[in-house]
Order: sequence, then structure tokens, then C-alpha cells
Amino acid sequence: MSAVLAAVPQPRHTEPRDLPHWSEWLVGQLDPYWRADEWDGKTNVFTGSVDNPLTAAHYCRVVRCTAMVEAFNSYCSACEYHRRKKKMEDRANFAETHHPGVRYARKIGMSQFTLAPLSATVRTEILYALQQRDQMEVILVPARVRHLTAKLPPGLDSLFDLGPGFPASLEELQGAMFRGLMDQLVRARTEHEGSDPTAGDVWDCRLVGLLAGKGREYRATSGTIDFTRLRQAWLREVAKEYGRQVRPTVIELRITVQAASIASAALVSRPCGDIPASCSLRT
Ligand SMILES: [Zn+2]
Repeated sequence: MSAVLAAVPQPRHTEPRDLPHWSEWLVGQLDPYWRADEWDGKTNVFTGSVDNPLTAAHYCRVVRCTAMVEAFNSYCSACEYHRRKKKMEDRANFAETHHPGVRYARKIGMSQFTLAPLSATVRTEILYALQQRDQMEVILVPARVRHLTAKLPPGLDSLFDLGPGFPASLEELQGAMFRGLMDQLVRARTEHEGSDPTAGDVWDCRLVGLLAGKGREYRATSGTIDFTRLRQAWLREVAKEYGRQVRPTVIELRITVQAASIASAALVSRPCGDIPASCSLRT
């Protein structure tokens, strides 16, 4: 029991401190070598590489076509237009036989996006969030970033300044991407402000940064872990400290809380359940 009690932390005291500016702090968190073959920090233009499996960038299925497409083994819009004009029986070898016409380079192509028109803070926020998503091995779809940035109001200072109705104004896939970016930024801002997301009795998974589960090597971004199921304050603190120090996966921590809740229910009927030093196996 004494080993368990030793894990109960003392109340936490946080000193007020001067916070560095959010955007300056975030710049310090960026990986300056991120996707060196694709990201140009001088022009703020991203050009997806077909060699990066974490980028949705592929050549058009037509052998002679140099256009880029998002989905592997698909046709660019021009080739697809010509393919549809063919009779069904002539489509079989289209990818090998079609001769695409002259292509005119677009300012920003299918596999590209630019962050140049954005404010420095929004640019940093998007870059940071994309870098974090790389660690979760989320495939980067340049078109989605391109479409999302086109929807941002001109002169926006920070993604946190967007109104609560903004996500609803986006198409489904753009909205999912926006929420994914914000998950990373909300966690980063919690870290920047120095607040402890594990102080309360209900943890927000996207803030505490635990891995989702074994074989899921990415941080959980949704759901909560509810320690209020543990009726005894001391047992709650032991379980929370286990979460802080051992850093189990979210699934493991939920199983632990579930197991502890069974012990908690049993202790409720005991006269000394709220005083851990009085608990013993013989009472
Ligand atoms: Zn094509």
C-alpha cells in the first residue's frame, strides 16, 4: 500500500509566467527539415512528390501523360474527358495508347498548395499541424489544403479567430481536415500556455497526447477518459498518476480505470474506503 500511496502526487502549484507569443513559440516547434523535397520555405509552396507514400500525388494513368492526380491509377481530368468520348470497346488500352495534347502549366498544380497569401501565424499553424499529422502517418492531400486555404477569410490572424460556424461551411473532406489540423493546434496551445490537461478528473484525449492503442502509433484525437467513476479521491489520483507517468495507450488506461472502478465500488461499502492508510486486505 505504501508504494501505491507514494504515487499520489502533492497538489500542483503553477507559477504565473510570461508567455512567449503564440506564433513565435510555434515557429520554434517547427521542423526546419520537413519534407525537404516537397516544401519550399522560401516561396511557401508545397509540391507533392510521387515518391513520398505520405503524399496523395501520382502520375496520370495514361503512360504518356505528365499530369498529376490525387488517386493512384486514376486519370487526369483531360485524359478522362477523352476516355469518355471513346467507344466502350476502344477504352481497354486507353492508358497505353492515348496521346495527350499540349499541356499548359497551371500556376498552382493538382499536387501543389501555397501558403504564401496567408498571414505568418496562419501559415505557421498549418505547417505545424501538417508536420504533426505526418507523425501520425496521415496522408497529405495537397488539394485539400489548397481548397481549405481558399476558404479562409482574407487577413485572418490565426485559425483560432475563425467563428464556430466555419467548419460547417466546408465540404465533408475539407471539414475533416480542418478538424484534424485544429486537434493538433489545440493541443499545442495547451502546451504553450503551460496548463496541465491531466489536472482535472475528465481528460480530453486530444489534449493529453496518449497513443490511441497498441498497433495504432498515433495520438488519440477524440474521446475522454473519465476518472470520476472512481469514488475515492486517493484512488482517482493513483489512476491519474499512472496515466501521467507510465503513458499507457488510451485503450490501456480505460481498461485500468474500469478495473479500478470495480475496486472503488467494493471500497464504498467499507468504513475506511476513503482513507487508504486504513485499508488492508483483512478488514
Ligand atoms: Zn492525363
